[in-house]
Amino acid sequence: MNETATRMADGATDYAARLRDVHERIARAAERGGRAADDVTLIAVSKTHPVGSLREALQAGATDFGENRVQEAVEKREQLAGDARRARWHLIGHLQANKARRAALTFDVIHTINAAALAARLNRICEEEGRASLPVLVQVDLAGEKTKAGVPENGLMEVVDAVRASNHLRLVGLMTLPPFLDDAEQVRPYFKRLRELRDELASREAFTGRGELSMGMSHDFELAVEEGATMVRVGTSLFGARA
Ligand SMILES: *Cc1c(COP(=O)(O)O)cnc(C)c1O
Repeated sequence: MNETATRMADGATDYAARLRDVHERIARAAERGGRAADDVTLIAVSKTHPVGSLREALQAGATDFGENRVQEAVEKREQLAGDARRARWHLIGHLQANKARRAALTFDVIHTINAAALAARLNRICEEEGRASLPVLVQVDLAGEKTKAGVPENGLMEVVDAVRASNHLRLVGLMTLPPFLDDAEQVRPYFKRLRELRDELASREAFTGRGELSMGMSHDFELAVEEGATMVRVGTSLFGARA
């Protein structure tokens, strides 16, 4: 084997081992939280990683990819061709209005609805493009961080109502990206709060389905699972550090 082939083979083994490790950690966290491990979907956050890494991930059994830029996902899907259809594609980054059409044509799930106007626009695009139903989550900014793209809690109902009034959008859950804190334990209150908001909306039958909770990344996904996450978005622990 030449050097490149060796590296690729090692990479594939690494990925499979990391995937197993993350699944085991999810299973243990689910047990601590009194939940079933298969309630939790692992989204492999592949942003910035080359398409070869996604191919390895698919071979190792990855089912869901998370990307934060529309154009990057478009290109990766093209390069993966038919294999791309073996995964569900999640948009987890901020969605600009002028990218909404590409997003609606590229992603299976959009996690980052943060405004009523964006919901209305996506709905109109789905109508025009003949997309019957697009699952979306509303991103909530629980810490009042101006740099984060979510809707503040006091604006949540307006966005929820706008999604529910959009006949081509299906509100499937809530997403959050809490502040990055060195001590992951300090993030727990944000996860608890998102679950409370989900429960409140679920009691009003706001969701199609059970009401997903998209929360938790490499450094805090176990806490998120303990607190009820049904979708964790994990990049670094699966693919290694981003350049
Ligand atoms: C990049 C990203 C992740 C994954 O982060 P890691 O720390 O690499 O696991 C999760 N969610 C969002 C919204 C991201 O942008």
